[in-house]
Amino acid sequence: MSEIKLVFLEEIPEEIKDNTLYVSMEYATAIHNCMCGCGNKVITPLSPKDWNLLYDGETISLSPSIGNWNFNCESHYWIKKNKIVRAIDWPEKNIDNSDQENWWEQFFLRFTNRFSSFFN
Ligand SMILES: [Zn+2]
Repeated sequence: MSEIKLVFLEEIPEEIKDNTLYVSMEYATAIHNCMCGCGNKVITPLSPKDWNLLYDGETISLSPSIGNWNFNCESHYWIKKNKIVRAIDWPEKNIDNSDQENWWEQFFLRFTNRFSSFFN
């Protein structure tokens, strides 16, 4: 997958392009189109209890992961050093039914239930 482009600006943009992360320090917010390509806007507020943004001068990382469970695609990924790192539970269809992966599935289910209020 190609690198994410970074755009720093003051205002939150109306129109946003795919594969681009827009960061507004003014509003302490980052915004991007869902990286699966579904076209939904993903807004990640930056604060100690929301997302943390790490900018090393060239690349950006966001933590924790971005889980779009309120979209149909239900994509789940990290942005690490301008790269998309897919979480193990996305896409769900590709998960085998081995014990270990079930364990992960359960783990993420619990995790997403706990944090689902963030996304509503
Ligand atoms: Zn999506």
